[in-house]
Amino acid sequence: THFWNYFKTFWNFFRLETSFADKKDFLDLTLKIKEMEEQEIAKYGDLSVKDFLDQYTDSQFVHCMMAISSDSYAVVPYNRVAARDFLEIYQRVIKSKGVGYPKYGCGAIPEAFQKIIKKKSGVILKEEPVDRVLIEDGKTIGVRLAKSGKEILSDIVVANVNLKHFVGRLVDKQYFSSDLISKIEKLKHSFTSVVTHVAFKQPVIEEKFVMKSATLTPNEIAERRLDGEFPTEIGCFMPIVSNISPAMAPKGKQLAFAGIGTTHEYYETHEEQFKELILDNLQELAKKKYDIREEIEWMDVITPKDLKNLFGEQGAIVGLAQTIGQVRSNRIESDLPVEGLFHCGDDSGKDLFGVGTELASLSGQNCAEMILRTRK
Ligand SMILES: Cc1cc2nc3c(=O)[nH]c(=O)nc-3n(C[C@H](O)[C@H](O)[C@H](O)COP(=O)(O)OP(=O)(O)OC[C@H]3O[C@@H](n4cnc5c(N)ncnc54)[C@H](O)[C@@H]3O)c2cc1C
Repeated sequence: THFWNYFKTFWNFFRLETSFADKKDFLDLTLKIKEMEEQEIAKYGDLSVKDFLDQYTDSQFVHCMMAISSDSYAVVPYNRVAARDFLEIYQRVIKSKGVGYPKYGCGAIPEAFQKIIKKKSGVILKEEPVDRVLIEDGKTIGVRLAKSGKEILSDIVVANVNLKHFVGRLVDKQYFSSDLISKIEKLKHSFTSVVTHVAFKQPVIEEKFVMKSATLTPNEIAERRLDGEFPTEIGCFMPIVSNISPAMAPKGKQLAFAGIGTTHEYYETHEEQFKELILDNLQELAKKKYDIREEIEWMDVITPKDLKNLFGEQGAIVGLAQTIGQVRSNRIESDLPVEGLFHCGDDSGKDLFGVGTELASLSGQNCAEMILRTRK
């Protein structure tokens, strides 16, 4: 229940080994953000999360606690994340008393969309990459499939692939103004991550979702990494998915997910340390009597390289980085400058805000409404 989660969260918070002044600063700021009016939040459009925090406190504890929330949402360091977007999301999380996780796991989202498409007599092709959008006389006429070369004709094409890859590789740049091309080419992706699923022979962790905060600031982490160290006092994102949705593991077993943001280069030279750090973090959550390494039934590690191969975008977790200059009115419009050609997903949709799947679906809905309006 919310009450029990709140109670446990506050209990753990007050037991943290940091000064009362730090804890008070954090709670005061959280309450302040909760009460902020939309117009006040809108003033922070050109400020980073770090700059925003600097106006209120120099407490390292508060900076680290806010930085892990900001990192988990934007997957880039908090000194680059747009404060306005972070504040709105943080406020929503506080007001809705937590974050959500899809029943039956993340795969349930595309499965639900598939059901709707099939119900509406749509056809879904899997493992069939498109290698070209077909355009004739400035109008979209369909797509060509990469493997068979088959052409599928349609006067509307909606893409949700990596926007930077799309423009240039799947559709010729000649249809776009040089300003738009240059804007798209300059867009920066969020960081990548190492992601693990750990299946336990029995439930060893009681928590549902833990975002472990770093105790070092992002600058300190970067400096120590540059010095060749592997700092372990860094954040970790740990939904214990079968505690949230029991169907995620067979009865009597447990499935945990854990991820740590990184860059490709740093991961490649510290692969084993990352794996051990994730297990150490899960061990910290486990009931004292368990040695979690003894309880593992299987474990998979999805590396930044795997994410890049699976989703493109350099393995970016949330597509384009939610940084100053890349959000809201600076986002690329879904309606592209070729008749009948649209782009939606976390990379596009002007004036939208949010993160990840939520932002991608919002962009999809927005794009659908746009198409329906032009078809009336
Ligand atoms: C490890 C991980 C953890 C995440 N955690 C969260 C989270 O906790 N909360 C959250 O909200 N978001 C999370 N996200 C982000 C979220 O998954 C994305 O923001 C979201 O899926 C973006 O949706 P999209 O439709 O824009 O693009 P995608 O979901 O990336 O879809 C693009 C699709 O295009 C396909 N494709 C690529 N090239 C071609 C081609 N040539 N032809 C045809 N198809 C092609 C790809 O295979 C892919 O299926 C996470 C992402 C990752 C990788």
